[in-house]
Amino acid sequence: KKVLIVGAVAGGATAAGQLRFYDKEMNITVYDRDSTMSYAACGTPYVIGEVIKDETSLLMTDPEKFQQKRNIKVKLEHEVVEIFRAEKKVRVRNLNTGEEFDDSYDVLILSPGGSAIRPEIEGSQQKHVFTLRSYGDMQAIHSYIQKEKPLHCVISGAGFIGLEMAENLKHLGLEVDLVHKSSAILSILDKDLSQLLHAELEKNDVRVHTETVIDKIDDRHVYLSDGKILKADFVLMSIGLKPNTILAESAGLSLGETGGIRTNEFMQTDDESIYAIGDASENFDFITGDPKRVPLAWPAHRQAFLVAQHIVGNPIGKKGLLGTSALKVFSLDAAMTGLTETAIKEKGLNAQTVTHTGNSNAGYYPDHEKLTLKVHYHPETRQILGAQCVGGKGVDKRIDVLATAIFGGLTIDDLQALELSYAPPFSSPKDPVNMIGYKAF
Ligand code: FAD
Repeated sequence: KKVLIVGAVAGGATAAGQLRFYDKEMNITVYDRDSTMSYAACGTPYVIGEVIKDETSLLMTDPEKFQQKRNIKVKLEHEVVEIFRAEKKVRVRNLNTGEEFDDSYDVLILSPGGSAIRPEIEGSQQKHVFTLRSYGDMQAIHSYIQKEKPLHCVISGAGFIGLEMAENLKHLGLEVDLVHKSSAILSILDKDLSQLLHAELEKNDVRVHTETVIDKIDDRHVYLSDGKILKADFVLMSIGLKPNTILAESAGLSLGETGGIRTNEFMQTDDESIYAIGDASENFDFITGDPKRVPLAWPAHRQAFLVAQHIVGNPIGKKGLLGTSALKVFSLDAAMTGLTETAIKEKGLNAQTVTHTGNSNAGYYPDHEKLTLKVHYHPETRQILGAQCVGGKGVDKRIDVLATAIFGGLTIDDLQALELSYAPPFSSPKDPVNMIGYKAF
């Protein structure tokens, strides 16, 4: 079989590696229009903040190693510009020479990711206005900061990237203003928990401006829709991601409601020879069954596994996504899984909520920290609908337990009985997850 893959980072490189693991003979070629492959995008804010000192530590491999160790061809700076489905061919453009050629496939895997949204506002094309998506974006931001030594940064968008960048830029000593359109930052948390992060940002001298957007940028200032003018010699736009679907669309493959490429249970598009995975593909919500797109690294990796299994003749159906995620904001960690209050309301679901604020581990042990764990559940079926946690320590562990509980179909009443590891540095005899179970009775 001959497999072509578009995209050589999270989903694409993983699919290639998985395929080779299960099939030593398959002919595999990966194309990427960028000049780096298989880098850890998730680490880029920490390279900019110089928490990670060596940027090359984000590079997991390169085309030479991939060829030598796995016998997989990777062609960087090669863009796939068209798919000819009837002939099972793609047209590829070598971005260095401009030369175009066709390559044939039995199976095509699309993992083209997404592009950072840059709003069409006056001044957004200037040299000091950045987005962060790729390794190259990271290098451009890092070198701008080192050469131009900006003092005042304005970040637009308080999602994951905006918050991680706010922390990292403060770490470098910049003044940071964070501008957010909605009334609460980080929309994947309920408002009461996102307020804890908001307070943490302000405690660390990040000025947060909610319910406003950037209207205009000049070389020294940013003009907000609420009339405020902020000093800015560095602007970061982190307002979201647009899935890269042009290639799929122009090949007549359909998109779903979320704007991602529509896929069946084995991640096949409308064309059974073409799979779509990662940020560009559409999935469904584990709880509601509604279309859902989760542009995070772990779905790309899970889906790469499913696709490789399907291609080698071991079909495993996809399960739906909870959107489990985590991030660090200065000394607080936040994590969530499943439905938020807003999603529950929008869906018109009947739900009750239990919240527990307590210690991450034994209160008499020196390094314990406070955490707040909040869980939504259905009052009759007792199904766990979603969970969120914010605190100083142990947040990810509680959410991972709850994500696993939801996945395994445990009810809110099962949580009191869970046998969770305990010694004073890790937890208490009654873990916060058990406490949620007790409180729900
Ligand atoms: P990508 O990894 O983006 O790869 C797509 C590749 O396809 C690109 O290299 C692109 O050049 C190439 N391509 C596109 N079109 C073509 C074409 N026509 N021809 C050839 N090549 C093409 N996720 C988490 O789970 N946790 C985190 O903490 C986290 N932090 C992040 C922090 C930052 C700053 C960023 C930017 C992302 C972060 N993510 C995180 C998200 C995660 O990196 C992505 O979800 C993941 O990389 C998606 O994988 P993908 O394969 O779909 O796309």
